[in-house]
Amino acid sequence: MHSWTSPSLSPLPPSGRPLRLHDTRTGRIAPVTPLTPGTARLYVCGITPYDSTHLGHAATYHAADLMRRALADSGLAVEMAQNVTDVDDPLLERADRDGVDWQELAASQVDLFAQDMEALRIIAPETYRSVSEAMEDIIAVVLALHERGRAYPVDAPDAAGPDWYLDLSVDGALGDVSGWSEEQMLEVFADRGGDPDRAGKRGRIDPLLWRAEREGEPAWDAGVLGRGRPGWHVECVCIAEQGIGLPFDIQAGGSDLIFPHHDLSAAHSVALGRPFAAAYAHSGMVAHEGEKMSKSLGNLVFVHRLVRDGVDPMVIRLVLMAHHYRSDWEWSDQELEQARDRLDRYRLAARRGGSSPSTVEVLRSALRDDLDTARALEALDAWAEGAAPSKDGVAGTGGTGTGAGDVPAAVDALFGVTLEG
Ligand code: ZN
Repeated sequence: MHSWTSPSLSPLPPSGRPLRLHDTRTGRIAPVTPLTPGTARLYVCGITPYDSTHLGHAATYHAADLMRRALADSGLAVEMAQNVTDVDDPLLERADRDGVDWQELAASQVDLFAQDMEALRIIAPETYRSVSEAMEDIIAVVLALHERGRAYPVDAPDAAGPDWYLDLSVDGALGDVSGWSEEQMLEVFADRGGDPDRAGKRGRIDPLLWRAEREGEPAWDAGVLGRGRPGWHVECVCIAEQGIGLPFDIQAGGSDLIFPHHDLSAAHSVALGRPFAAAYAHSGMVAHEGEKMSKSLGNLVFVHRLVRDGVDPMVIRLVLMAHHYRSDWEWSDQELEQARDRLDRYRLAARRGGSSPSTVEVLRSALRDDLDTARALEALDAWAEGAAPSKDGVAGTGGTGTGAGDVPAAVDALFGVTLEG
């Protein structure tokens, strides 16, 4: 499906220095060495399109955007894939509640998401597929898992046939990403879409692979498994395989996806006989009014509303940059004011002439150091004050705005923030 229009890109000549990224699985920061020399392959989990993009989403896609910009700056080609979970319980429930067609609801929210991504100057993924679009391929993966003896039926009294679950005990691959014990998993599994207590399951964490058709729900034909729709995790395995191939370099997403989604996606992939991602990068959660932003709490701050209220999307990016992508933080109006003030100062400095090779070097090295955006902002603050290291000789004054020391060009290429305007 059409994703959105990427911002115009003018990358700097490659630095040749690798991105060093924190890997959730190992708990360490290590250089990204692509499995395919010369090309980094990145997957970021997409939205369930039943509500607009809020700051939590923006933080996730901003972090992934910085990863790909850092990989490109190191001299790698980047291939990225992203899904849209347009067949899922929350979407179907919302459509039902509001009396609208689920496909129309999904289409309208996908459209709004694309507008938000464009406004934020997020580079579009090379592969962008929704579950309904990829259904034929997803069914093939589900059937392959059945053929490999990983699927088992569980009675579904309200359906014509059984539901099917993935038997995690066959491969014993659970917890590879999170490193959690089953006890830790069970603490959050039910809250995050799991059904640990369903009668007939062999293992409490076993994920739903194929849900038999229920009255009023969309369904597709999956041969011996009957009509129904796929569980959540298998879609990302399928869309990653189709788009960027398995295994790939980096799986990205919000930290609430570590378990169950990323643990169980990896388990599906292992059950298919293939390793999944080489590394896992997770972004922190964004809070508002003292609680993590969530639909159920109703404390969401939407990107499109901020933009509608006149907030420059580049201000939103600067708010995001003020926090390390892995940390949890809280959105506030004060943050917005600080970022607004920053953008004004940076734009003023850009108009004065932005050349400072040493500032550009700090920006690049901060980005490749596990996306250290706070350090980049410090360097930019100093640059805007005209206080970049004196060896430049031209900091903040009279530079030509071109060449290796062009700060506005570097801020655009590395951080997606345009200082024009
Ligand atoms: Zn996913």
